[in-house]
Amino acid sequence: MKKCAIVTGASRGIGRAVAAALAREGWGVCVNYLRRRDCAEALCQSLAAEGCRALPVQADVADKAAVEAMAEQARRSFGPVSLLVSNAGIAGQMLFQDVREADWDRYFAVNVKGAYNAIQAVLPDMLHAHAGSIVTISSIWGLRGASCEAVYSATKAALIGLTRSLALELAPTGIRVNCVAPGVIDTDMVQVLGRETLDALAEQTPLGRLGRAEDVAEAVRFLAGDAASFITGQVLGTDGGFIV
Ligand code: NAP
Repeated sequence: MKKCAIVTGASRGIGRAVAAALAREGWGVCVNYLRRRDCAEALCQSLAAEGCRALPVQADVADKAAVEAMAEQARRSFGPVSLLVSNAGIAGQMLFQDVREADWDRYFAVNVKGAYNAIQAVLPDMLHAHAGSIVTISSIWGLRGASCEAVYSATKAALIGLTRSLALELAPTGIRVNCVAPGVIDTDMVQVLGRETLDALAEQTPLGRLGRAEDVAEAVRFLAGDAASFITGQVLGTDGGFIV
């Protein structure tokens, strides 16, 4: 039986698809959410009906104590954590001159400190086991930058630096650290852009469509699993060829 996986931000969108894919593969999955308890519970119930193991756990990833409590709850239910998918994130468009200090701080607290909190909470289990896999979720905008998304892009670039550095630091311990950089994925996060912009982004994507959350989940599943046992420190684009 596969062990314990934590997926942050798993009530909706990409995290939800990742959690479902992992649970169907036999992982015991901690389905983390911030506010949408209804979505997290509905996902866990439908997975349970399929015979899968999933537990909804509320925690703001920006809150270190809450993340540690979540890891403890996951451990109690499914055993030591051997996979973390650090996915929870927030995005928004604004001119850089309009970015308030509170915006800057919140984006970094959720998108970057959230990863720091989650990784630190699960590392003791992985170090003890001399094994484990961590997958962070960046973005194409962390690789190439985006107008009116400077703060978001900065947080996503930071995750790539964190992933690569940790991959090197943790390699001798048998823990792999990789990153997925999705393109434009059709989730709640991007609906604010409006249909016209989303259609234009689909057109700019060489494969001619927006991504689905399941497209990203497949990339995460690959990097997380044994098929990727010789892969660490990599950034896997899941973007329909947006960045080549
Ligand atoms: P989404 O549809 O907006 O879902 C966000 C998820 O994160 C929800 O489950 C939400 O929980 C959770 N969340 C938000 N803030 C949180 C916090 N402070 N603590 C814990 N959970 C929190 O987003 P998505 O499109 O699936 O994006 C997931 C990740 O992929 C993000 O890191 C995003 O930056 C990245 N990404 C997305 C795209 C895209 O085009 N969609 C592209 C590249 C990268 P609640 O349901 O409780 O609110």
